[in-house]
Amino acid sequence: MVKSKHRLKRGDIVLIILGEDRGKKGKILSIDKKKDFIIVEGARLAKKHMRPRKQGEQGGIIEKEAPIHISNLKLVCPKCGKSTRVQKSILENKKRVRVCNKCGEFID
Ligand SMILES: [Zn+2]
Repeated sequence: MVKSKHRLKRGDIVLIILGEDRGKKGKILSIDKKKDFIIVEGARLAKKHMRPRKQGEQGGIIEKEAPIHISNLKLVCPKCGKSTRVQKSILENKKRVRVCNKCGEFID
């Protein structure tokens, strides 16, 4: 079985396929060290109460993205705009690239 773990990168656009944000698309802001959990811009907002830390700073509620497990995300191909599985391919110069299996274009 091919691991799907290392196929997503920061800056990729992903589609959320499970949970309350199903169907939402967003950009990957960060990926945790084990690459299992991903922060997606604008997705799974959790409300946090903030206290003013400095004088004059406003406290209140801020919304912050909560991590989403990688299995709930699917890459959106920047070339054809479809959510896709990616295939890895190695070019002649030994560079690894990801290939969209919908349109066949290189993603990297
Ligand atoms: Zn594509």
